Amino acid sequence: MITRADAIIVGGGIHGCSTALHLCLRGLRPVLIEKDYAGRHASGVNAGGVRQLARHIAEIPLSIRSMDIWENIGDLLDDDCDFDNHGQVLVAENEEELDACRDRVAELNRHGFTHEELISAAELRRLVPAVAETCPGGIVSRRDGVANPARTTTAFRRKAGRLGATVREGVAATNIRQENGLWRVDAGGETFEAPILVNAAGAWAGRIAADLGEPVPMKAVAPMLMITSRVPDFIKPVVILRGRKLSFKQFRNGTVLIGGGHLGTPYPETNETVLDWAKLHESAETVFALFAVMRNATIVRAWAGIEARMEDDLPVVSRSSKHEGLYHQFGFSLHGFQLGPGTGAVMAEMITTGKTNTPINDLAIDRFTGRSAV
Ligand SMILES: Cc1cc2nc3c(=O)[nH]c(=O)nc-3n(C[C@H](O)[C@H](O)[C@H](O)COP(=O)(O)OP(=O)(O)OC[C@H]3O[C@@H](n4cnc5c(N)ncnc54)[C@H](O)[C@@H]3O)c2cc1C
Repeated sequence: MITRADAIIVGGGIHGCSTALHLCLRGLRPVLIEKDYAGRHASGVNAGGVRQLARHIAEIPLSIRSMDIWENIGDLLDDDCDFDNHGQVLVAENEEELDACRDRVAELNRHGFTHEELISAAELRRLVPAVAETCPGGIVSRRDGVANPARTTTAFRRKAGRLGATVREGVAATNIRQENGLWRVDAGGETFEAPILVNAAGAWAGRIAADLGEPVPMKAVAPMLMITSRVPDFIKPVVILRGRKLSFKQFRNGTVLIGGGHLGTPYPETNETVLDWAKLHESAETVFALFAVMRNATIVRAWAGIEARMEDDLPVVSRSSKHEGLYHQFGFSLHGFQLGPGTGAVMAEMITTGKTNTPINDLAIDRFTGRSAV
């Protein structure tokens, strides 16, 4: 038996769940298919950074649209997702880095974006009192913050289900095909069909796109995170060091999450990752050296998630360049958690009205036309 839906969404990360919810809000009844469980991969294990700071200009409109949703996330999801907005601060450790910050803010201003502010050494020390005295300033994005990733993704999935989405977890979408103008997908013992198919399959989305004739230069990567024992309160905002692969934030319970982009090894076929302890050691040593308060802390846990990274570090958010009714929403390249709420809204808008007012032209899949998959 074939079950009819208004749309089939492959992937229950924050992106698939957000699109499912926003389609429901527009009166559609989608089916969401997740091979493991919603939030099992990048969306549930990331650093929770809700950051407009330091984004590529091409994705800033999407990021701003997301931020407007984040600020009212409790109204949308009936769950505050532990969202707080103490800001995010990019620290310049020397004058050369501060010059680069100055150029960056000027460039954003030329494009009409004002969310990043250049800050002096005094303002930096007000925001991050424990920062080394030698740091001459940086950039702050004051509306930014953090949220609980697993809780947020689950809240999107739960609300979508409550508003009428059919959710299937623990079954992979297979045999994805277009027949008689409809998309058909097998999932476990069931077959679903719909005029719309959304490829939101995270690190597995490249294969789906390639199988449907749109290969993209995307690879799976495994960003790593670690968490320390409790230390006295010393930072409120998320802190990013401009010149190093390092970011960190302190939770209300005193523990500190350290990340920033060092990679382990992903095994997407088996859902496994292997950590690179030497790189984790490097990150921990840097934080411990910069912040005296951290010197007695120990690392209590480390992990990695499987994430899709595009060659140009920009996501694919667009309709297919080849097939009617096919939409792509993947490749978020280590910074897609913050984009989840807004991207789902934009996808639902495109699917139901054929257009969106949020500029996403530079994120189209046809930027890779003629390329092969990597
Ligand atoms: C350690 C780490 C830290 C990060 N920190 C941040 C941060 O602080 N801020 C930020 O903005 N971003 C961050 N990111 C990036 C962010 O987590 C991701 O960009 C985002 O979660 C991607 O969401 P997604 O829905 O596209 O993918 P995913 O969460 O990977 O979801 C895709 C889902 O598709 C499912 N799937 C795949 N194939 C199939 C199939 N055939 N059938 C059914 N289901 C399928 C998978 O099981 C998976 O659950 C981080 C990522 C990691 C790994």
